[in-house]
Amino acid sequence: MADAPPASGSQFRRVLLKISGEALMGDQGYGLHPPTVERIANEVKKVHDLGVEICMVIGGGNIFRGLQGSAQGMERTTADYMGMLATVMNALAMQAALEALGVFTRTISAIPMDQVCEPYIRRRAVRHLEKKRVCIFAAGTGNPYFTTDTAATLRANEMKCEAIFKGTQVDGVYDSDPKTNPDAKFFSRISYDEVLTRNLRVMDASAIALARENSLPIIVFSLNAPGGLAGVVQGEGKFTTVSTLASDQKGAA
Ligand code: UDP
Repeated sequence: MADAPPASGSQFRRVLLKISGEALMGDQGYGLHPPTVERIANEVKKVHDLGVEICMVIGGGNIFRGLQGSAQGMERTTADYMGMLATVMNALAMQAALEALGVFTRTISAIPMDQVCEPYIRRRAVRHLEKKRVCIFAAGTGNPYFTTDTAATLRANEMKCEAIFKGTQVDGVYDSDPKTNPDAKFFSRISYDEVLTRNLRVMDASAIALARENSLPIIVFSLNAPGGLAGVVQGEGKFTTVSTLASDQKGAA
């Protein structure tokens, strides 16, 4: 199946979508906002309908972040495990929303919890993808001191995804924050090295380095444009591709 042609309408056969936990909280400032979860599930369904095989990694920052816990005096590893458990809650919420839309989905956890979801077994996950089930990888890497960005890059490599789609609040990578700087320069493409040296915070540095080592493109796009994900998967709309190619210095915005 690894050699199957790309799905029709898409240049990609298998992709990983990474979203932060905060993308699921709507305007609430905390937790899960069911209409927002449903909206993102609809975006995923549109890509699934194109025949693309989909992996997902969802963060946990809408519920708990290890660094916050340790800043408040909690032991770091315990706090990180709480963060990982938060990602499982988000994954289950997304699974429920996708299955309500008729998209078969598996939540697969790096920390075994058999009554709740499947444990991570690479070959089994590949089989799910081949059967067009969406695989949501939960509990990050299963290890403290990591983030779900790194988990996303790890799983994307293991699943032989052709790209990571990183959904954010902005429509790509800029040289400064476009929300505060109207002159911020947009990059339609940029290299891993430039992202790291300019400290552009696309994903954390270990995730970028892991993607660079495996030449795995990262496509940064806005989660807020309706139909945006399906468009971007088909090469339409505004987005930034992070790869080995140097940036477009003119920065066409
Ligand atoms: N986490 C971890 N190991 C991992 C992934 C996540 O310890 O492999 C913990 C860490 O405490 C992190 C929290 O889970 O703060 C939530 O993940 P993340 O901060 O990546 O979520 P996001 O910012 O994407 O919502």
